[in-house]
Amino acid sequence: LVPRLRPFTSTIFAEMTALAVRTEAINLGQGFPDTDGPASMLDAAKDALYGGANQYPPGPGRPELRSAIARHRARYGLEYDPETEILVTAGATEAITAAMLALTEPGDEVIVIEPYYDSYPAAVAMAGATRRVVSLVEDQDGRFALDLEALRAAVTPATRAILVNSPHNPTGTVFTDAELSAIADLCVRNDLFAITDEVYEHLVYDGAGHRPLASFPGMRSRTVSISSAGKTFNCTGWKIGWVCSSAELVGAVKAAKQFITFVSGGPLQPAVARALDHELPWVEGLRVSLGRKRDRLSAGLVEAGFTVHPSLGTYFVCADVRPLGYSDATELAWQLPERVGVVAVPVSVFTDHPDEWKHLLRFAFCKRDEVLDEGIVRLHKLR
Ligand code: PMP
Ligand code: GLN
Repeated sequence: LVPRLRPFTSTIFAEMTALAVRTEAINLGQGFPDTDGPASMLDAAKDALYGGANQYPPGPGRPELRSAIARHRARYGLEYDPETEILVTAGATEAITAAMLALTEPGDEVIVIEPYYDSYPAAVAMAGATRRVVSLVEDQDGRFALDLEALRAAVTPATRAILVNSPHNPTGTVFTDAELSAIADLCVRNDLFAITDEVYEHLVYDGAGHRPLASFPGMRSRTVSISSAGKTFNCTGWKIGWVCSSAELVGAVKAAKQFITFVSGGPLQPAVARALDHELPWVEGLRVSLGRKRDRLSAGLVEAGFTVHPSLGTYFVCADVRPLGYSDATELAWQLPERVGVVAVPVSVFTDHPDEWKHLLRFAFCKRDEVLDEGIVRLHKLR
């Protein structure tokens, strides 16, 4: 393996899920739901499978899916031409990596906000670019907020792009309009691309709502907006994602994408198109239910002795282990399955500064209530 990829030989999610299976622990580690998406979407996939949609779809994605993505995006007041400004990808993961390969090269710097989703540093490394990490900072309410000064200080003449994830995995932070506006200003002023990871766009609680960075002044033409069906429709294994941007940037991402997978998920694409057009009420039900699960798990973690940081979106909540008498959550995460039968993910693995983040565990609440409740009962044994 070439040196630049040596730090990326295994993912924490695969390791932790394997540990959960081996120890028969409750898996609050990897973020995937344990119930299925809307029945009409599953039926549509079945119909497509038996209806002959089993060969290569068109390179940019099936036309009905691109049109449905355009209609979905228009809900934010953002118009994209499905012919030239939308590209279907193998999940958001491929879209992020293809965007990085298309827009950066050795010598370029990419600003990455930490804690970061684990594929980001790998994507930057595959492109041969260099990451510049800016840490989120805790505000007075325990929310992880953007450090605007640190962000501005991270820009150099070599900065090419910034990767922005909101709602944010692992912290559950949803960037405020002020934070997004500051990122937009920075991009416009320094002529940077923004690559936005909006996979949790529908999973925002407490009425905050999602605002795409592309909708800020000057941003549409320089933002590669990325999302996917996995989190919105409980189908993380389908890996249907998409890119919305200018024809020029979509063309660039497509140039890289077509030689990574070319296409994927043929029979699943019409099903996702159907879901985007008809199942947003189902998604609203999911959102409400996940908001309750967030409350349920957060309250349970507090009862078990953790300090819990507020989560406004995603599948995740971060908890501080120090009140329980532990100083190292990373070490604890590896012992947790054997000791109490629960899997959680140490936040430190999503950072370049493990010491500064070593007191936090990430718990996933996208699980059935009985699974969350059993996890909480077990975590009480940590005291
Ligand atoms: N970005 C974030 C922030 C995620 O949490 C995930 C994991 N689901 C992804 C991207 C990957 O999305 P996909 O499965 O569509 O590739
Ligand atoms: N996004 C999921 C998480 O953060 C995991 C996806 C994966 O396993 N690559 O838990």
